[in-house]
Amino acid sequence: MNGNQHSLHPDHDRFGFRSFSHGLYIGGVWRPAAGEGWIQVIDPSTEAVVVAVPDATVSDAAAAVEAAASAAKGWRETPPRKRSEILRRCFELMVERAETLATLISLENGKALRDAQGEVAYAAEFFRWNAEEAVRISGEFGIAPSGANRIIVDYQPIGICVLITPWNFPAAMATRKIAPALAAGCTVILKPASETPLTAYALAALYEEAGVPPGVVNVLTTSTPGPVTAAMLADPRVRKLSFTGSTGIGRTLLAEAAKNVISCSMELGGNAPFIVFDDADLDAAIEGVMVAKMRNAGEACTAANRIYLQSGIYDAFTEKFTQRMAALRVGPGVDSDTECGPMITRKAVEKIERLVADAISRGARVLCGGRAPAGRGFFYPPTVLADVSPTSDMGREEIFGPVAPLYRFESEAEVVAAANDTEYGLAAYIYTGDIGRGMRIASKVEAGMIALNRGLVSDPAAPFGGVKQSGLGREGGQHHGIAEFMEAKYIATGF
Ligand code: NAP
Repeated sequence: MNGNQHSLHPDHDRFGFRSFSHGLYIGGVWRPAAGEGWIQVIDPSTEAVVVAVPDATVSDAAAAVEAAASAAKGWRETPPRKRSEILRRCFELMVERAETLATLISLENGKALRDAQGEVAYAAEFFRWNAEEAVRISGEFGIAPSGANRIIVDYQPIGICVLITPWNFPAAMATRKIAPALAAGCTVILKPASETPLTAYALAALYEEAGVPPGVVNVLTTSTPGPVTAAMLADPRVRKLSFTGSTGIGRTLLAEAAKNVISCSMELGGNAPFIVFDDADLDAAIEGVMVAKMRNAGEACTAANRIYLQSGIYDAFTEKFTQRMAALRVGPGVDSDTECGPMITRKAVEKIERLVADAISRGARVLCGGRAPAGRGFFYPPTVLADVSPTSDMGREEIFGPVAPLYRFESEAEVVAAANDTEYGLAAYIYTGDIGRGMRIASKVEAGMIALNRGLVSDPAAPFGGVKQSGLGREGGQHHGIAEFMEAKYIATGF
């Protein structure tokens, strides 16, 4: 199928579809894929085809590695101040184009426009933050304990990086990797998710405009991510794999990267507990859970997946929360008054239906929602389930949708044990009026990130990442994110 045969979205000029729907972005050039294939991008609100993008093959992957290698020397030798200014310009252009980018995200991902606007602001911050970091990379100097020599540690760019991102944050998951990689002096190849490639291509055009030299950022889309990624990782010039996505694919990629002993950063799945104690500020906890559960319609790795309520607050919380969930406006992401957009695919809706059916079969009560509407679009309504059994499948698997299971608990020890009873360890939320208890529970819950009396953890200035099977490494933060793209070189120096 030829991409030219697809009818373009009516807004194609505004989004720049004409340029990026006809090529992969390799070496600063928009070029066709080596094969004949195209990937259709579907609007989850209407199920209509928005546009098609090229389907890269293994030979396109080789071309992307070649382009990244050709640009590597020039970029690592570009003075940090110059790199910083280019990254700063990326930030400014993203802020200037925020409305267009947000609309594009809503179109291909389905998320409510207000969520997309939030994502663009978050995504742009990674450029501002790393523009500031690019000029603050410093080494170490010390004397060896024996006194025999000095220890000098220099931090160098790790080399060519392969970056793989999911569909749920098409802009932010890419900029959270690209900005620190470029700040460190690396060149990159980005493989965005097949469902949401348009934001990645739109941003590639923006980087070019900001002054990112050809070959420093390359973007390719493919329907065969396994072989295409394996081909890139087999090239000895590739030294880094930074992946965000499911734990299952993360495991596969770790095995693939092991063949050439490639450095890996893994941002994987989550199963976040949201714990509310009797002494919590009820209204604040309700505001918090609405963000923690419903940002991105629940399609977030940090989404509250298990809501634990202490007995004394269970009924009051449940009543208020159910009212708020039932009142949310469900609709197409691009409509400005939508609060809960569609899921990404029909398959995602079917997974939610399976999890809800399983919970009901084990005694859960549906307080609102609970049934996907008929008609076009991958919609699922905001749903609250009470009296959910801890043995339900949704207690172990990511729901990735607007479904809130409520569990009752009595004691601190009981809720800590329940919260930790998962292979995941990404985010956790705790609401209590007693900050001492909050800190105590925070230290016992196995998670890379804790939100204490807050419904949101993500911040470019803080280290984002998980423990256990939620991942390896950190993104963002004062030095963590950029350190993932550098190698320490130790020089034993006598003088
Ligand atoms: P996914 O199925 O693991 O896909 C993620 C990316 O990996 C996509 O680009 C996908 O490409 C690619 N991929 C799939 N199979 C591959 C293979 N064999 N080799 C190389 N690449 C491959 O995850 P998803 O459904 O897009 O995203 C949801 C998951 O991401 C959830 O588990 C969520 O918790 C997690 N997530 C984690 C974080 C975090 O920071 N920890 C943030 C956001 C999301 P295709 O699209 O072509 O399949």
